[in-house]
Formats: sequence, structure tokens, C-alpha cells
Amino acid sequence: MKVMKFGGTSLANWQRFEMAAEIVLTSAREEQVATVLSAPATVTNNLLAMVNMVLAKGDVDEALAKVAEVFEALYADASVSLAEEARQQLKKVLARQLASWRAKLAGVQLLGECPDSVRAEILVAGERLSAALMVEVLKNKGVSAGLLDPRELFLGVGTPLESVVDIAVSKPRFALLKLDEQRVWVMPGFTAAGADGKVVTLGRNGSDYSAAVLAACLDADSCEIWTDVDGVYNTDPRVVADAKLLSQLSYQEAMELSYFGAKVLHPKTISPIAQFQIPCYIKNSFNPKAPGTLVSNLPDQTGLQVKAISNLDNQTMFNVSGPGMKGMVGMASRILESIARAKVSVSLITQSSSEYSISFCVATLDAPRVKWALEQEFELELKSELLEPLEMRDQLAIVSLIGDGMRTHKGVAARFFQALAQASVNIIAIAQGSSERSISAVVEQRKTRHAVAACHQGFFDVQQYLDVFLVGAGNIGTGLLEQIKQQEAMLKGQHISI
Ligand code: ADP
Ligand code: ASP
Ligand code: MG
Repeated sequence: MKVMKFGGTSLANWQRFEMAAEIVLTSAREEQVATVLSAPATVTNNLLAMVNMVLAKGDVDEALAKVAEVFEALYADASVSLAEEARQQLKKVLARQLASWRAKLAGVQLLGECPDSVRAEILVAGERLSAALMVEVLKNKGVSAGLLDPRELFLGVGTPLESVVDIAVSKPRFALLKLDEQRVWVMPGFTAAGADGKVVTLGRNGSDYSAAVLAACLDADSCEIWTDVDGVYNTDPRVVADAKLLSQLSYQEAMELSYFGAKVLHPKTISPIAQFQIPCYIKNSFNPKAPGTLVSNLPDQTGLQVKAISNLDNQTMFNVSGPGMKGMVGMASRILESIARAKVSVSLITQSSSEYSISFCVATLDAPRVKWALEQEFELELKSELLEPLEMRDQLAIVSLIGDGMRTHKGVAARFFQALAQASVNIIAIAQGSSERSISAVVEQRKTRHAVAACHQGFFDVQQYLDVFLVGAGNIGTGLLEQIKQQEAMLKGQHISI
């Protein structure tokens, strides 16, 4: 059994959708497939916007129409290959969903607020509509296909909008299914249900994680994440135009990379597939023939010490300091516990060796909750000035270097800081995990692109660029220009560009 996940961009319109179905079909000829689908691109964003619009006393119908349009266009364009009966059926499902959304939004309007559990129910419906369409498309292509309902199979633990799946409880539920009945199973991503049966989401971009959990629950032979780029690059290809494709990553490298901001994989994705040692391929649905990136525990063949550079934006750094910190046992644990109680995860932490201060970063969205939690925890210390008022700094980003090979190599940090210095990027804080698999610097967010580009140039670009200024082109100057011209090709061969 193979698990194949398709993201929103791979399902954005009928042409893409059919291409995804063809990719599934090709695999299904070889083996049984379970496919996990996102909502078509824009749908989840529009569903979120729809709730916010209603809360801001906007027009429900107008907001709903935007979402409906995406599916109506999909069904209309599907007419070339989908039987009329199937399309009518899908339209009925959409009509029922629109009625359900409308009812929920009316409730939201009346209440003047939207509880997270209702928001979760509204959001996950996009993936359900994707899955329903895919089942019809596959059946139409002559493959037996059926739906897997994540609300019945995945036990979500956490908050309504940010849950993880309890695999130990969920996996036995699959044993009760008659999996042989269909060649292809289709599951909506992003979705689970709590112990009370209420729908929860696995966090934004969470369908990657759904696929990983499904692969673990089915003991799949492999998991494929189909997206809109050829695989994992050594940095975000939107930030650095000549980012290089990586053929291979270890589970740990992929985990660090996604954790430190590479959007191509949701940060929670790697843990289940690493636990069950399932190889994972990142592949391009726009270019299915490309080999993609393999994430596995196979020995590294790339020979690279630093594999990749990532950036995690929208960070706020807290600094807790004061004379009361010195030698006080349990300060760090009290800080971390109060953040955990606020259900916020810390992205980076450093402590000065004088023990005078502890600094850490969290997502800016979570910063107010963290501030409140710390002020509660340290009320007495703050009042008695054992602690200084909490310092908070916004608009920061974490730039990280990632690679298993960094462990055995000296001088990587020095090159990292030199690259940042050359790009005039001020380092606000640094942290290196004891695994030595990643090293991170906190920088101003407005400098992120600069920082990433400079590091990419410093670590991966073998090309040396020389700027030569010639003042006056007399005999000697002209001679020099001629020589440079003659030697251009030879210098290029030695990776020197003038
Ligand atoms: P999907 O809709 O398939 O889930 P996403 O937009 O969530 O796709 O993720 C794919 C995007 O991740 C790519 O288009 C790319 O811009 C971005 N990305 C960020 N960092 C990387 C990286 N290191 N390698 C590849 N893609 C990356
Ligand atoms: N549709 C969800 C989102 O946009 C989940 C996903 O696509 O992974 O966040
Ligand atoms: Mg994604």
C-alpha cells in the first residue's frame, strides 16, 4: 500500500485535479493506494475569511459565493469526462454543504463570535468536497474507489484548531476496515475528531501530516507528498532563485527543516513516518517524471555537510531577566511550563551563561498569550523587582542552517556568521541544538531575504564574483580588458565571474 497526498495547488482547477487523478491511477495499476487530499487552493483561506467577514458584520452570501464558485467551476469543467449523474450527485453534496455552512454562519452572526470547534467544522469541509470529487473521478476512470472518514478513524488530541493524532488509538481502528474492497481509498486531509466526537483540524497546512499518520496507520510501504515544486530545495525557491534541489534527506534533517520554516512539509509530518521508518518522497504533480526528494534513513549520498537553509518568519522574542534569575533553580522550567500551559510552542531558546537572562522565540500570533502566562507565573517576582519587566521584540525571523554532516565539521558556525555579517545582517540571538544538526540565528525579519541569500551564496554557490573597476582605458587598460575577455571562458571553468 502506498499513501499519496496532493496539496491545494495540485487540485486548484479541473486540469490539475485530473492530472492528480492520473498520477493516482498510474500508481494504482502497480499497488493499492490511499490518497489524502487538501482542499483546492484558496478554499481554506476563503473559508477562514468568510468566518471573519461574518464576524465583521459582512454579507454571508457574498462570502459563501466565493467558496462555492471554486467547486462549481470544478464540476462544470469536469463535464468533459464525468458522467452527468455523478456531477448531479456532487452538486447535491455541495448544496448540502452550502446549507450547512450557511446555518453555522447564521449562528456565528447571532452569537457575535465563532467558537474554535465551529470554526474547525467550517474549515475541514473543503477537504471533504475535494475527496468526494476525487472518488467520482477515479470511478469514472474505471478504478474502484471509496472514502475513508478521518472523523471516524483519527483521534485528535489538542485544541480544536491545532490537534495531533493519537496513532496508538487510531491505528487499531483501521484493522476493522475491509481495506481489500477498494483499489484506491480517498481521505480528506487536515481532519480528525476529538474523544468527544467533535471535528478538529490538524493545523494550517496539516494535510501533509494527515498523509504521514495514514501511512503509519496502514503500515504503508511509502508515502508521497505531491506538491508544486520538484522536491525539497536547499532553500525556499521563492526566496533564492537558484536554490538547488536535494535528492535525499534524513528524517532528522527533514524534521529540522520543516520545523524551521520550510513550508513544503508541515512540521508534524516527519515524526510518524520516522517512527515507522516509512520512506517519504516529495514530488511535483506538475512534473511527475522528476525523481523528487527522498526522506528516509538511508545513508547520505550527497556528501553535503550543510544541506539547507530555512527561515521562520513572524517571530517574537521574549527576554526574561533580572537579579532574581541568578542561581535560582527551576527558572527555565517555570518559564517553559507556563508557556506550555498557554498551549504555545517555543521555536528557539537561549540562556546567557551568567544565568542573568533567558530569551526565547514564539510565533508573533501567540505572543500575547505567552506574555499573559508569564505575567501570571512571575507576578510576585515582577512586583518585587527580582525580575525586570518582560522584554518583547517583534518582527523577527529565525534563519537556520541544517545538515546531519555539520556534527563532525568545524567552522560551519564561523562561515554562517561571516555570511550574515557580509550581508550587514545583525544577529540578535543564536542557538545550536546539541544534536548539532541545526544552527540558528535570530535576525530582523526585514533582513530575512538578505540573510538567506547571503548564506546560500556562502555555502552553496561555488561561483566567485569579482567586481573590477578600471579607471581609464589607455594601452594598459585596453590590454587588460582584452585579456579578461580572452580568459572569460577559462575563468568561468574555475567558477570565477568578472
Ligand atoms: P501544497 O499546497 O502542495 O501543500 P505548499 O504551498 O504548502 O504546497 O508547499 C509547497 C511550497 O513550499 C513551494 O511552492 C515552495 O514555495 C515552498 N517552500 C518553502 N521552502 C521550500 C524548500 N526548502 N523546498 C521546496 N519548497 C519550499
Ligand atoms: N487546506 C488546509 C490549509 O490550507 C490544509 C492543507 O492544505 O494542508 O491549511
Ligand atoms: Mg502544504
